[in-house]
Formats: sequence, structure tokens, C-alpha cells
Amino acid sequence: KNFQHVALIIGVTGIVGNSLAEILPLSDTPGGPWKVYGVARRPQPPWNAEHPVEYIQCDVADGKETSAKLSPLTDITHIFWVTWANFPTEAECCKVNGGMLQNVLDAVMPNAPNLSHICLQTGHKHYIGPFEAFGKIKPHETPFVEDEPRLDVINFYYTLEDIAIEACKKKQGLTWSSHRAAVIFGFSPYSKMNLIGSLCVYAAICKHENVPFKFPGTKAAWNCYSVASDADLIAEQQIWSSVDPIGKNEGFNCSNGDLFKWKHVWKILAEQFELEYVEFDENEPYVSLTERMKDKGPVWDEIVKKNNLEATKLEEVATFWFADVIFGFECMLDSMNKSKEHGFLGFRNTKYSLISVIDKMKSHKIVP
Ligand code: NAD
Repeated sequence: KNFQHVALIIGVTGIVGNSLAEILPLSDTPGGPWKVYGVARRPQPPWNAEHPVEYIQCDVADGKETSAKLSPLTDITHIFWVTWANFPTEAECCKVNGGMLQNVLDAVMPNAPNLSHICLQTGHKHYIGPFEAFGKIKPHETPFVEDEPRLDVINFYYTLEDIAIEACKKKQGLTWSSHRAAVIFGFSPYSKMNLIGSLCVYAAICKHENVPFKFPGTKAAWNCYSVASDADLIAEQQIWSSVDPIGKNEGFNCSNGDLFKWKHVWKILAEQFELEYVEFDENEPYVSLTERMKDKGPVWDEIVKKNNLEATKLEEVATFWFADVIFGFECMLDSMNKSKEHGFLGFRNTKYSLISVIDKMKSHKIVP
């Protein structure tokens, strides 16, 4: 087949990596037909294997392995960076995540003469600082806009952008873009931060134990306006900036373009899992989701067995700590004006995005 472009997705089993793997090979995707290489650390899971991608198992934190496995891929034209490594300190995050990107660039740049674009996925922490800085520094005002100066703290998102910008200076015609997502609604049982996946698991546990499906966040989070980023929409924006000259050498926010409240999400989750919708009760003491779910590993094993689900462990399919982070904030809104002004007009109805993720969780037999 005569391919127009060749993608290398780093993190192909992740929450956006899996969407890129689904969308890039489609016949009507802009810039296509695309040939797609997909990299992740573990063997390819069945829910990812349905996408026509050349799967490469590789740990990109390992420079030797990365060089051995990626330097033979001389036809790469685009890198999609949809991965990350988490460490207790941001200094370690900068070192390791920066090292991972550098390893990939060192393997690809000298060998792939047609490499033309590096797409980086980052997020709202660009504007509020890394996890370790929460509550310690003054974040940017909401709604977040792209062209504010950087915060005066180290941040692995800044490290990634700096490495990409440096790489572009070294190779004529090479461009970059960064895509700053809000909380992502997407499907990946392997993601280190999957809010909706975690809430589906929580709902399934509440149903199994016949206990009320309570919102585990603050009253402010329950009531405030929020934005989310559909994983397929992020993939579409990344593909847009990969092929449209106006989408290059810039950072873009990427959220759905509508507003919602967590109380609305709660109603939909309750409906989809046939649970009773319970209002937030401010007389009850705050108990984090992590705390609520701390002993539920064996319960999850029972649910998996009873419903004949894909064999998973609770800690794989649920990232309750991330729900606690998200439900501790309020009004994390961003602006999509820059993206629209540059010509990316994609949007999602968050309600349908949510239902589509829940459907995927069920159809892949991750939750009952
Ligand atoms: P993810 O955890 O869903 O997926 C990561 C992917 O990278 C997986 O395929 C994993 O196997 C792979 N991977 C991890 N380490 C690897 C290694 N050493 N070598 C090869 N592959 C490796 O990732 P994500 O949530 O899409 O995160 C990407 C970026 O998006 C991060 O910077 C994150 O902070 C940001 N972000 C995420 C969210 C969210 O809700 N998940 C929201 C906003 C921003």
C-alpha cells in the first residue's frame, strides 16, 4: 500500500494512544493513508489488537532497547507522544520523561529522513503546576489560555516542549505541537489516570455490594462547572496539527467545548449501571474514593468471576487516587478559542462522550 504518512505512537495502549491507534488507520483520516507503528511496554492486550497497527513492545526509558527497536523504522514521518512516567518528585519526572523523549528522538531523527512533526500530549498541569506544587503555588487564572507565560516551577510538560523545540532547531522542516488536555474521558484499562474507567469500576462495586452510589468528592466539585477532553477528540486535534501548517509550533488546549457538572455525570453513571441516583449529602463527612475502595480487591475478583469479565486486578482498572485529585478541584476551565481561531473546530458533547466510554468498558468486558 502507498502510505502518505507514517505514525509512531509512543504509548499506544494508553487512554489517547488507543484512540490514535483506532483513528489513524481509518481510510478518511486527514493525511492518510497512514501506516502506524505503536509502542508500549507490555505485550499487546486484546482490546488494542483489533487496530491495524504494527505493535512494538519497547521500554522507551531504556536507551539501548529504544535504539535497537526504533532506529530500523526509517519511514516514520510523525511522532505522537502519548505516554508518561510518574515519580514522587517533579525533578524525577522531568529527568525520566525528558530522557524517554530524548531516547526516542535519538533513535528516530538520524534514521528517519522524512520525520516532520512531533505531537506532544500534555495537560492542564501546564497551568496549575505539577502534583507536588498543588496548594503551594498560585496557578494561572481560569479559563486557562495558551499564551500565558509558564509558571515559575519545574514541570515535565515544559521539559518535553523544550526538548521538542530543540529538536526542531536541529532539523529543517521539523515541527512540534503540544495538546493540553483537561481530564480525559477515554477507554484504556492500562491507563495510569482513567477517571471514567475508575468510576465505572466504583459503580460496579456499589451495585455488587448493594450500597448507595455516593459521590466521593467535595460539594464544590459536585456543583461547579467542569470541562473534559474526549480521547478521540484529542487524537483528532493531534492529527489536525500534524497535517495542517497552521497547527504547528504551538500549544493548544483541547477540551470538548461544552460545560458539565459532576452531578450530571453521576446521574448518567447511575442510569448506565442501573443504580439509584443519590444526591450529594453535605452532612456526611468527606471520605476519599481511595479510602472507600481500599479493601475491595477481593470484591473486584468476585465481580470479574461472576460476570465472566476480562481477567483484571482492581489496581489495574481503577486509579482511584486520580478521581480524588479531580474531585478536589473546582472550575478547572480552559478556553478553546485559540484552537478554533487556528482552524480546529472539533468538539464533543460530553454526555455522549461519557456514554461511549461506558459502552466500550462494557463491550470489552472490563466492567459488567
Ligand atoms: P496513559 O497512562 O493512559 O498511557 C501511557 C501509555 O504509555 C501506555 O500505553 C503505557 O504502556 C505506555 N508507557 C508507559 N511507560 C512507557 C515506557 N517506559 N515505554 C514505552 N511505553 C510506555 O497516558 P495518558 O494519561 O494519555 O498520559 C499522557 C499525558 O497526558 C501525560 O503527560 C498526562 O499527564 C497527560 N494527561 C492525562 C490526562 C488523563 O486524564 N489521563 C489528563 C490530562 C493530561
